[in-house]
Amino acid sequence: MSNKTYRTSTEEETKSVAAEFASTLNGGDVVFLSGDLGSGKTTFVRGVAEMFGFKEPVRSPSFTIVNRYPVENSTVKRILHVDFYRLDDPSEIVPLALEEEVGRPDTVTFIEWPEKAEGRISEASQYIVFVADGDTRTITLLVPPRD
Ligand code: ADP
Ligand code: MG
Repeated sequence: MSNKTYRTSTEEETKSVAAEFASTLNGGDVVFLSGDLGSGKTTFVRGVAEMFGFKEPVRSPSFTIVNRYPVENSTVKRILHVDFYRLDDPSEIVPLALEEEVGRPDTVTFIEWPEKAEGRISEASQYIVFVADGDTRTITLLVPPRD
């Protein structure tokens, strides 16, 4: 998938974009989600989890920092959903030991507020930028070339 911009006007549309994106994911992918509060990052992860057949509610990990969703997909067995919004200091990431989970070949990782980690996390394989304006969400997928 190359770089692409979508405009959505409902949560359901954002989840459809997410479902399409989910079909391009490979185990080990690490997706950074950037955008203001309420711009649709968690809604997007919900769309991915539903597409992978996860039946339980997907809630924002802003208090737990990390949520884990087991899924049954050919290669992807787990979605790791991370939200660094509430970190006061990037050093708080260390005890989470995320390096043992992020990038695992059976796991796809989504990270909200990756900038708060200040580089203490694996590099992204894909970036998605969310911009809100009323009910419109502009969603830009940035996929660096793989080497
Ligand atoms: P974030 O994780 O970026 O803080 P959420 O996904 O939790 O954002 O919340 C998005 C909010 O915006 C929800 O309240 C949702 O109902 C609302 N919303 C309005 N229009 C859209 C849209 N087109 N796509 C996604 N969410 C939308
Ligand atoms: Mg969120």
